[in-house]
This record gives sequence, structure tokens and C-alpha cells, in this order.
Amino acid sequence: MRHTLLFLCLFSLFISSCTKREKDYVRVGFAFDTVCSVQIFTKGNEKEANVILDQIFEKLNQLEFIFSPTLKESELSKFNEAPTDVSVKLSDELYYVVKENLKVAKETNGAFNPFLGKVTKLWRPLWQNTSESEGHPSLPTEADIAGALQRVDYQSIVLQDRTAKKIKDVELDLGASAKGYATDCIKDILLKAGIKRAIIDLGGNIAVLNKKENGDLWKVGIKMPIVHSQGRVAGYLETCDRAVVTSGNYERFVEVEGKLYHHIISGKTGKPVDNELRAVTIVSPNALLADILSTSCFVLGKKEGQKLLKQFPSTFAIFFFKDASVIEVNGEAEHFNIIDNSLRKVKEK
Ligand code: FAD
Ligand code: MG
Repeated sequence: MRHTLLFLCLFSLFISSCTKREKDYVRVGFAFDTVCSVQIFTKGNEKEANVILDQIFEKLNQLEFIFSPTLKESELSKFNEAPTDVSVKLSDELYYVVKENLKVAKETNGAFNPFLGKVTKLWRPLWQNTSESEGHPSLPTEADIAGALQRVDYQSIVLQDRTAKKIKDVELDLGASAKGYATDCIKDILLKAGIKRAIIDLGGNIAVLNKKENGDLWKVGIKMPIVHSQGRVAGYLETCDRAVVTSGNYERFVEVEGKLYHHIISGKTGKPVDNELRAVTIVSPNALLADILSTSCFVLGKKEGQKLLKQFPSTFAIFFFKDASVIEVNGEAEHFNIIDNSLRKVKEK
């Protein structure tokens, strides 16, 4: 009788732990010059969730001290200050991200260029407070841009055995990929901590872990890719275990005399890319790759962007054009559902 009772007690304990629903815990903070939020779903208690969230935000802080283009003491800034022809030992993290960046720089013939730092630093003070020209520093001069463009060759770097050597006076800017890498780091922390479900949002670099507890896919909304979108949602996709990363011309920009100057730069002109695109969203299991490809496709434009994506057949992409048309690339398994009816989907052959 005693054994039966003990068994029943243990059995009901087992059943209640199986049926206990997950709770969500959210932390919002500021890092990488943007608002970051992480929402985790767990059967653990608040204290346990907070330990994990603390760890994540500590990691973001640590990454800021590696990748920040504006902190003088970041590893990236110190590398930029280092003299040419001197080998500098890099952290594993900076070395890895630079290496991955260079693969795509080569693939895109420098259209994606992590060594545009000399040019982007001319523009960054203008982007920092978006939208109003009043009180902003003036636009860079043609001479400044021309001078900076002399020093942006991504082949001016030798990477070997965790060291990097500049052979010309170029500067790194990993703004196009560091948030993606940070997203992958957060995913690793969550998985190691046994968290199966989460939503990560690093200033528009979104990633979802697993499916919802009821087995449904997550619905990830994509903002209208227009200036002052005021909460308008372009549409959504239903997905799991994916990063959803968008690059566009409508978030980080400055308006001077009625003209918008956004933050994705052509290495040919040293000025904001001006093509048929408003934005490109990339959906991939790898957030670093998604971040690199979204910027790359934005710079390359429709034709060359699609060509690049042929090499990444499992990477789904959505191109948003200025004429309000939308195309899907590699969309065999996933698709984008339009909500805002000013947009229209166009089939691509
Ligand atoms: P993405 O499309 O992913 O990237 C665009 C960014 O990539 C540009 O802003 C530029 O940095 C770079 N870029 C532009 N053209 C090209 C190109 N052709 N090829 C490759 N890269 C290109 N910004 C601030 O203003 N102040 C800060 O204090 C600041 N701190 C930061 C700290 C960290 C750790 C990081 C990673 C970024 C920080 N930034 C800061 C922002 C950064 O410079 C970019 O503006 C931001 O990362 C853009 O991300 P995105 O997803 O909007 O656009
Ligand atoms: Mg990017």
C-alpha cells in the first residue's frame, strides 16, 4: 500500500511537471547603439531566467568592447589605430567575424566591404541623430569622400594565425554584421542554458528559437520599409529557428535640404547606395550570414543580389522596391505574407 501511494505521488509530480506551461521573461536594454530585447520561454522560475538574461546582456556589453566603431577602447578601434605592416593579434571573435566578412567581400567584388571605415566615419556623425538636418554636422565634402575612397580596399589585409596585418591604411567597420554575430552568440548562450524557445531582437535583427510551445510557427512581422512608418507592418512570415534580418534605407539616415542620406554606402561613390531598393530581408539559420547578405543584397541591387543568393539556396530573401513591388528569392519552402495593401508581390522567373 505504502509503495502504491509513493508511486502515485511520484507519478502525479511527474505529470504536473510535464504539463506545467512555460512562462516568458523579457529583458530590454540598449547596446550597439540600438534597442535590444530578448524574450525567453522557460518552465524555470524568474530567478533562473534572470541569471540567463544577465549573462546575455553581459555578453552584449563584452561584444560592444570588441566591435564598436565609436568606442575608442574597443578592439576594433585599436586595430584601426594600429600602424600598417604590423601584425596585430586579434581575439577569436574579431578574427572570425572579419574572416566571414572577407569571404562575402570577395564574392561581391567589394560591393560588401567591411573596410569602408574611412568613408563611413565621415557619415556616421550625421546618421547618429536621424531625420532632422538642424544641428547636424554638414555633409562630407567631395574631396573628403574622394580621399577616403583611396583607402577602402578590402584586400589590404592579411589574416593569418589569429593575427591581422594592414598593408594599407584602411579601417574596419563591422556595422553590417556584428549584430548578426551577437544574435548567434545569444542563441548559443540560450541553448547551453537549456532554453528551447526564445525571440531575440537586436534593433531589427530578429531571431526565433524553435517553434511555439503549442507547435505553431512564430509569426515574424516586417516593418514597412519607409521613413516614419509609424508602426505600419509590411507583412509577416511564419518560421522557426531562423534569423530574419533587414537592411534598408529608412531607419538610419539624415535629411539635408529635403534629401535623405542613409547609411549603406557604395564603395564606388562613397555615398549612400541609390538603386531601386528600399530594403532586403534575409531569412537564414545563421544570423551572421543573414546580416552580411542583407547588406550585400541591398548594395548589389536586384539582379546582382539575386545572383549572389543563388550560392545560398537555403537562404530565403524578400526584396522591397521603391515602386512598392516585392519579390521573394529562394522562396520554395517559405513565403512572405503581405499585410499592407500598398505593396504588391511580383513573381520572378
Ligand atoms: P546593416 O545593413 O546591417 O549595416 C549597415 C552598416 O554597415 C552601416 O551603418 C555601416 O556601418 C556599414 N556599411 C555601410 N555600407 C557598407 C557596405 N557597402 N559594405 C559593408 N558594410 C557597410 N552607430 C552609431 O551611430 N553610434 C554608435 O555609438 C554605434 N555603436 C555601435 C556599436 C557596435 C558594437 C556596433 C556593432 C554598431 C554600432 N553602431 C553605432 C551602429 C553601426 O555603425 C551601424 O549603423 C549599425 O550596425 C547598422 O546596422 P543595420 O542592421 O541597421 O544595417
Ligand atoms: Mg547587415
